Amino acid sequence: AHEGILRRQALRESAARTYARSLPIVPVRARGMTIEGADGRRYLDCLSGAGTLALGHNHPVVLEAIRRVIDSGAPLHVLDLATPVKDAFTTELFATLPSELADNGRIQFCGPAGTDAVEAAFKLVRAATGRSELLAFTGAYHGMTAGALAASGGAPDVRVTRLPFPQDYRCPFGTGGERGERIAARWTEYLLDDPKGGVPAPAGMILEPVQGEGGVNPAPDGWLRRMREITRDRSIPLIADEVQTGVGRTGTFWAVEHSGVVPDVMVLSKAIGGSLPLAVIVYRSELDTWQPGAHAGTFRGNQLAMAAGAATLAYVRENRLAEHAATLGARMLARLRALGADHPSMGDVRGRGLMIGIELVDPEAAPTGTATDTGESRSVPPPDPVLAAAVQQECLRRGLIVELGGRHGAVVRLLPPLTLTDEQATAVVDRLADAMRAAER
Ligand code: PMP
Repeated sequence: AHEGILRRQALRESAARTYARSLPIVPVRARGMTIEGADGRRYLDCLSGAGTLALGHNHPVVLEAIRRVIDSGAPLHVLDLATPVKDAFTTELFATLPSELADNGRIQFCGPAGTDAVEAAFKLVRAATGRSELLAFTGAYHGMTAGALAASGGAPDVRVTRLPFPQDYRCPFGTGGERGERIAARWTEYLLDDPKGGVPAPAGMILEPVQGEGGVNPAPDGWLRRMREITRDRSIPLIADEVQTGVGRTGTFWAVEHSGVVPDVMVLSKAIGGSLPLAVIVYRSELDTWQPGAHAGTFRGNQLAMAAGAATLAYVRENRLAEHAATLGARMLARLRALGADHPSMGDVRGRGLMIGIELVDPEAAPTGTATDTGESRSVPPPDPVLAAAVQQECLRRGLIVELGGRHGAVVRLLPPLTLTDEQATAVVDRLADAMRAAER
């Protein structure tokens, strides 16, 4: 069955097929961090549905919440009508929000995907400001629909201006050192305030508190606070895309909490649906200049996702899983950095909470980029996407699922569930270390 399924899907699925290409697994059962394939092999899952599965696969509280809705006889499809399930989800979500948004915020249900919510956020700030330009950052990923893609460095859109994201290993402005932060912030101010040739007054600025797909680049807290000041001073709505960083992943419930920044709009998806499709924006009510019906869509009332999501949010909050993620993440980061001392091909190990990236480089090749985090120039070896792909395959052989990311596809990304145990964290690093040794040969 295993080989047949893989073969048939490879023939019929689009050439854009991604995960299935590098991860030839046919999952038939899963629980917690473990996935079992049709061939009987078991894997530790550090992909977690691209960061979706805060509680891992099929967590009992999630299954129970879904069963309860089904057994209650409640309608599964209600467009966006008010229901007890929706009420419970909204109440639980608002209990987790920064108080400025919880007390005075609005929610718009957007549809199944993160990219739907990003589009809604853009539409909202454009409607509220009457402007159309957007500011986005190098290394960003916001989704695959037209507007989100343009803000991700995909299909160019004249209305999107790209600004330097400071915590970028390969960014000439630095690696998040204070000087790099200052330069990146100054550059943003300079562009905004330049009367000739700068950017026109924008409708909004969108950023990820930790860039995920871009290669796990945590935004320095000081820089985020500067972005908040810069946007506030100029009446530019600040949109935080917490699709991947939300629900405890980075060590606080929402990643913006590390810096204390309260954005004007938060884009939420992935973990808020407890493994089912759900995406929303929450925003300051002053921005709510929409007319009734201004933003609609058939699939904005997924009852099962709301129930699974509410159960997930409550479980993360009650069990302090954000703190757990911070502790275990720091432990894993320290172990991985120590491992890097023996592996010159482990270029930069970074992350926040249980969002960890290891950039693989070719130490033998001539250094390409220069990074300046303290004012001095420093050469860095070039990224090695071939080695990264080899490490991913060696991990798979050892029963560990990891994903790659970053501009060059050379960053090994770890997104384990927040329910990760100490033993599992140790197993992940052990298997990765083993895979590194095998791939380097
Ligand atoms: N924003 C961020 C930060 C993401 O990581 C992603 C998905 N990886 C998206 C938006 C898009 O979400 P979706 O794939 O559900 O459209």
